[in-house]
Amino acid sequence: MAGLIAPVARLIDELNRLPGVGRKTAQRLAYHVLRAPADEARALAAALVAVKEEVAYCSVCCNITEAGVDPCAICADPRRDAARICVVEEPLDVLAIERTGEFRGRYHVLHGAISPIDGIGPDRLRVSELLARVRTGGVEEVILATNPNLEGEATAMYLADQLGAAVPIVSRIARGLPVGGDLEYADDVTLIRSFQGRRQVERG
Ligand SMILES: [Zn+2]
Repeated sequence: MAGLIAPVARLIDELNRLPGVGRKTAQRLAYHVLRAPADEARALAAALVAVKEEVAYCSVCCNITEAGVDPCAICADPRRDAARICVVEEPLDVLAIERTGEFRGRYHVLHGAISPIDGIGPDRLRVSELLARVRTGGVEEVILATNPNLEGEATAMYLADQLGAAVPIVSRIARGLPVGGDLEYADDVTLIRSFQGRRQVERG
């Protein structure tokens, strides 16, 4: 951008890449950082680096975990029902479901949803990890808790098909969640109802 000195322009560009941060917001944030005390800016920079260096992925459920803590706390907890796996799109969905206290099984995090428009196929998601996990046996139910939008539904249908006879029950969380919405934004009561009202998915 003309007139901007390079370090400021660079920060604005980087902030602008974040989801939901438009050019104007990026500029406002950049000037906020510029005015902030140096140690505040350093703390922000350190937090950004740490999230990449100190966060790893659980080798069982693919959720994020602290580096060196593998399997994650939920997968390692013997009180959690290993026979029930709840499949979600994002780590934030795990937090939303955990907040309700309704689900005592374990999770599998896909890190996205199938979206042909965006060129995201099943190979870009943690699908093969889920199938491998289910095929090792001992799983009685897979609950598909992908978002109630086009991509989430397509992903649920694909997974139900792929899981086939590998698991006795494949269920889909009930409608009632705001259509087109994100699981992570659903209120606790809606989320609990949606879990309790889950329906078994018919498979061919
Ligand atoms: Zn895990």
